Amino acid sequence: MNIGTIGHVDHGKTTLTAAITKVCADMNRGTFKSYEEIDKTPEEQKRGITINATHVEYETEKRHYSHIDCPGHLDYIKNMITGASQMDGCILVVSAYDGLMPQTKEHVLLCKQIGINKMIVYLNKIDMCEDKELIDLVELEIRDLLSFHKYDGDNIPFIKGSALKALNGDNSEYGIPSIVKLLNACDTYIDEPVRKIDLPFLMSIDDVLQISGKGTVATGRVEQGLLKANESVEIVGIKEKTIKTIVTDIEMFKKTLPTAQAGDQIGVMLKNVKKNDISRGMIITKIPNLKTYKKFESDIYVLKEEEGGRKNPFSSYYRPQAYIRTADINCAVILNEDTQVANPGDNIKCTIELMYPLALSCGLRFSLREGGRTVASGIITQLI
Ligand code: GDP
Ligand code: MG
Repeated sequence: MNIGTIGHVDHGKTTLTAAITKVCADMNRGTFKSYEEIDKTPEEQKRGITINATHVEYETEKRHYSHIDCPGHLDYIKNMITGASQMDGCILVVSAYDGLMPQTKEHVLLCKQIGINKMIVYLNKIDMCEDKELIDLVELEIRDLLSFHKYDGDNIPFIKGSALKALNGDNSEYGIPSIVKLLNACDTYIDEPVRKIDLPFLMSIDDVLQISGKGTVATGRVEQGLLKANESVEIVGIKEKTIKTIVTDIEMFKKTLPTAQAGDQIGVMLKNVKKNDISRGMIITKIPNLKTYKKFESDIYVLKEEEGGRKNPFSSYYRPQAYIRTADINCAVILNEDTQVANPGDNIKCTIELMYPLALSCGLRFSLREGGRTVASGIITQLI
């Protein structure tokens, strides 16, 4: 299970991460990583974007966890937008002494938008708070924020503690026992991730071939689900009208297969479909009546020059190519009113307008490219 700590800078994410590894190591369920080791952050190079992040691993009775902690706010944002390391659930760290802060809110919003549905709150630095009423007030504020973003704010596990005390081996209520409670909450509250294979079939078309005497074949990698020969599918996107057809044959490595599943690179023979009817970028799916969209709201991270991005900022109605699944389509990037220009290194909200419609969903990631270079990485936050 992939989890991680999120929250405002200095609220104690790295201290908590170190404390978790310590408590687990003491039970022989992982290796202790000190605060300094976690904060040192080896540089990771993923999809050209530099994300400073540390992964630590530990175990509970129930699960193996891979846990991500980032040093800076921008690293969290980049990580969430690009999906460099996806989280199945996360621990929101809030300092009880400081209360809700802007980055707390931004992380919660982005988590919801990228489809992280389970969150646990660790209310940290209780040792610094003498006023119990203040703690209750902060708890109320956090629960409100979570409910506002459609989390189950009233019932979300809420653990009060002091990561620093736990890290220092303190066995009183807010020390080590708070970490044990937190891990129990992770085990029970965060759901197992849905396996790709259990979702309905979807494949984005890579290429289209005409096989003489046989028919039209579309190739691609199965993104999710299962497909059997002779099943009905719909081909969606780019053109206004959906094509309904039947897969008469599935091939992988030039052999006929009875079934294909998520991860397979396949070719599918399509009944009564001409080569010109379909193209790269359309999807083949068993999900019925998928809607298509030309316009959506998104969060994007604009790559810096040293990350392979642009040297200069761009303004509204910038026209790069949008790469979404296997589609590459001309688009216009419409900046929000409060954004004059998008500078390399910025994380902004904007609207994207595609030249052709595609089957899209919230949480789907994409990139913007221009002249062979990736200029931005984004995530769809709302369909229009
Ligand atoms: P991050 O930026 O969220 O990773 O926060 P850090 O883990 O680096 O913590 C920021 C500061 O708060 C450090 O000086 C920690 O020692 C301190 N700190 C973290 N947890 C606690 C706590 O439970 N109690 C107290 N008093 N200080 C804490
Ligand atoms: Mg940190």
